[in-house]
Amino acid sequence: MSLKDNLAYVKRNIERAAFKVNRDPAEITLVAVSKTVEIDAIREVYALGQVDFGENRVQALKPKSEALPEARWHMIGQLQTNKVRDVVGSACLIHSLDRWNLAEEIDRQARLKGIRMPVLMEINIAGEEQKAGIEPVDVESFLDAIGQLRNIQVQGFMTMAPLSEDPEQARPVFNELKAWHQRLKACRYKNVDLRWLSMGMSQDYEVAIQEGANIIRVGTAIFH
Ligand SMILES: *Cc1c(COP(=O)(O)O)cnc(C)c1O
Repeated sequence: MSLKDNLAYVKRNIERAAFKVNRDPAEITLVAVSKTVEIDAIREVYALGQVDFGENRVQALKPKSEALPEARWHMIGQLQTNKVRDVVGSACLIHSLDRWNLAEEIDRQARLKGIRMPVLMEINIAGEEQKAGIEPVDVESFLDAIGQLRNIQVQGFMTMAPLSEDPEQARPVFNELKAWHQRLKACRYKNVDLRWLSMGMSQDYEVAIQEGANIIRVGTAIFH
């Protein structure tokens, strides 16, 4: 199959999953995770109308976003504090805010650049020890503290479900994050506007859509 066929296939599945739960597929942003491919494949997919791309390493995000600045670049991978400078300004959204000192550094770099950086808090819903992410019990105090950081805006939550062959295994994880999102969206926090829920990858994006994701991050299903 070609990249064109793959993209069309994923988009059809997005529509089908959305219709199943009476959602408008237009409210779901597909981030094409391009971490395994070179810029030529990315250009091909961009030419098909795909605008959002995701990378998990700063060393790749920087040159790719410079080669294709018309696209929107998402930083989805774990971020080291000393790499923040290269992401702020080149990424439209950082999905992987997983600790306080990273928030402080993003805020500092954004202030130096005179911008406000949109970020998602990565939440470790499944409680896997080896996984990054803020523990659910710490989310509210974290959101409170974000009020001090004027050059950051928390725009939502991201999570990764445990790896599994069976996409249904992810459903309770997505469902739980959706519940947190619903509840906290109704609260007022400074520098916080919880519009995004980033969950679902090639394995489980249809389940994620059924459970309320409005950003899905799909790599393999497009770029294989
Ligand atoms: C690689 C990656 C994805 C995409 O995974 P696929 O299984 O290739 O769709 C999504 N999110 C994150 C954080 C990733 O690192």
